[in-house]
Amino acid sequence: MTEQKPALEAKDVSQSYGELEVLDGLSMSARRGEVHALVGANGSGKTTLLRILAGLLTPDSGTVERRSSGRREVGYLPQKPSFRSGFTAAETVRFYARLLSNDVAEGYVEDALSSVGLSDAYNRPVSGLSGGMTRLLGVAQARVGDPTTLILDEPTSGLDPEMTGRIFETVGELADGGDAVLLTTHDLERVGRNADRLSLLHGGVIAESGTPSEVVERHDAEELSDVFDTVVRSEGR
Ligand code: ADP
Repeated sequence: MTEQKPALEAKDVSQSYGELEVLDGLSMSARRGEVHALVGANGSGKTTLLRILAGLLTPDSGTVERRSSGRREVGYLPQKPSFRSGFTAAETVRFYARLLSNDVAEGYVEDALSSVGLSDAYNRPVSGLSGGMTRLLGVAQARVGDPTTLILDEPTSGLDPEMTGRIFETVGELADGGDAVLLTTHDLERVGRNADRLSLLHGGVIAESGTPSEVVERHDAEELSDVFDTVVRSEGR
């Protein structure tokens, strides 16, 4: 059997802001059926990379190929999603679905909310949702139009461990259903437990990648945080 091509493939991507070179010939890919965690120190360029992969920012050089069987290639959840406060969760999803098509099928909104475990929040105003539920609604919004790849910028930042677990569980189910999920997080312990693959961004390139256990074994380390410390603190870039 030939292996399916990646849903998303970046090659030789470089990006600078003025004199600051953030990405320096970086290549990486994301596959359907996998939760792929992008980790790296603050300021290493994770958001810049996600925005390039999502097509929101054109890199100085390099290419990004996005493959999709749905109406959209990529859905993107920014770090701080904000929704119109007068809307309910259902109205929010319907609003975004209608931006893509006037004809939003019966049951679409229920299915979208159910896919992220928010069926009970159907009629709740978004202003009354917890931080974690707001992120889940953001995931539902990002999935409108059935994108193959979901790109989530720090979907668990500021959340308690229980809600963080719920987010990882939800994206794990979406990946099991065939989505390619690429997310950034600082929670290495969760990455070790719940991500199928990780890429460590350092020095403008992917300095390490593989399954969590491969990466830990390659460094003869106890856990991912040891690898992170070794790689990120090695040259001080
Ligand atoms: P991360 O998400 O890993 O924290 P970012 O991609 O946000 O990293 O930022 C990488 C570096 O690029 C940081 O030093 C940041 O200050 C800088 N940077 C990000 N966006 C811009 C911008 N629009 N203009 C200038 N510098 C930027």
